[in-house]
Amino acid sequence: MPQHQPFDFQAYSCDIQTRPCFICQMVAGKPAYAHEIIYEDERAIVFLNKYPPLYGYVLIAPRDHREQVTGDFTLDEYLALQQIIYRVAEAVRRVVSPERVYVLSLGSQQGNKHVHWHVAPLPPGVPFEQQQLAALSLKHGFLQLSAEETSALASQLRAALAV
Ligand SMILES: [Zn+2]
Repeated sequence: MPQHQPFDFQAYSCDIQTRPCFICQMVAGKPAYAHEIIYEDERAIVFLNKYPPLYGYVLIAPRDHREQVTGDFTLDEYLALQQIIYRVAEAVRRVVSPERVYVLSLGSQQGNKHVHWHVAPLPPGVPFEQQQLAALSLKHGFLQLSAEETSALASQLRAALAV
């Protein structure tokens, strides 16, 4: 299992507030913004979190740049994305057997504007005081997966999503 590495909040914070939208750049195929993509269709793109506090942490975003988690979508568009999130969460459950799957959307107008959803699996056995928001915090760093570990996890998730 990968080990936690320190997370540089200051560099990250500066980066996300000054760089172009990383999701739009990834959708456009810009190599500097490449992520391990596990699924994409005409509506959405699903990829591994580069700085996961938990193993098996996946992000889901609409391909189009939208900023309000509900207000920038029609109800049908929103529900179509939720169907993808459901499938992703089920794939994550099959691959990493978590105690719970957390699903949430964060971001703001200052950083990470392009709306996306986090699907974050809480492993079994985490003491209660280290669950929920504590489990999602990068205070204790993130899991640095090797290229091989990233690619193996992505393959497992792709296979689980295809079921
Ligand atoms: Zn964008």
